[in-house]
Amino acid sequence: MNIFHIPAYTDNYIWVLQSGADISVIDPGEASPILNLINNNNLNLVDILLTHHHFDHIGGTLELKKQIKGKVYGPVGNIEGIDIHVSENDKVETLGYDFSVLETPGHTLDHIAYVDNEKNLVFCGDTLFSAGCGRVFEGTFEQMHNSIQKLNQLVPETIIYCAHEYTESNLKFVLSEIEDKFIENYFKKISAKRLKGDISIPTTLELERRINPFLLSIVPSDLKHLSKLEQFTELRNRKDSA
Ligand code: ZN
Ligand code: FE
Repeated sequence: MNIFHIPAYTDNYIWVLQSGADISVIDPGEASPILNLINNNNLNLVDILLTHHHFDHIGGTLELKKQIKGKVYGPVGNIEGIDIHVSENDKVETLGYDFSVLETPGHTLDHIAYVDNEKNLVFCGDTLFSAGCGRVFEGTFEQMHNSIQKLNQLVPETIIYCAHEYTESNLKFVLSEIEDKFIENYFKKISAKRLKGDISIPTTLELERRINPFLLSIVPSDLKHLSKLEQFTELRNRKDSA
């Protein structure tokens, strides 16, 4: 059993769960890289799990659906191709993973995450990124803040699989707001990794609490007097205009 990524578009990751010759995919924004993977390695596509309706996450669904052995799972709403609409606490079992659904509105209103509480891992789409978080497109800042704090309640060792490679630019923003040796060193480590062509994901909740101000365990000193929601809102606004 293993998990790996397939790059898509400029900075998306399609996450692939593999068990023997079977794979399931999370957020297939494009079909062709998955079809190539299946055909070149004689794999079977079992299930498709979707986190939210943005095209870079669902774009390959209808094409891939023609040959899945299982089902397309996704949030309640009108994404085309979903067989089973899931909401808070619903279970999704695929290839030995037991996911619970967490509703994480904010980036979009339909956004959900898939958490496996046994294996301590989460596929969180565009809600939390390494050293950052998704833009608030459809929800309110309060919804996004609450969704991120919901993820923050998972155990510290939780492995976080997010859907974009934004870590390096996120860390640049963090370092423009917060002086912190640990973050400086982590930035150097990630820059070196990226130069070699390695990816920065997955991350862990434990690590994010030290490098990601959107979880609010670290905040710029000029925001410390504000409430948690105000801190989050101000940070998100600063990031948007950075
Ligand atoms: Zn998105
Ligand atoms: Fe996205």
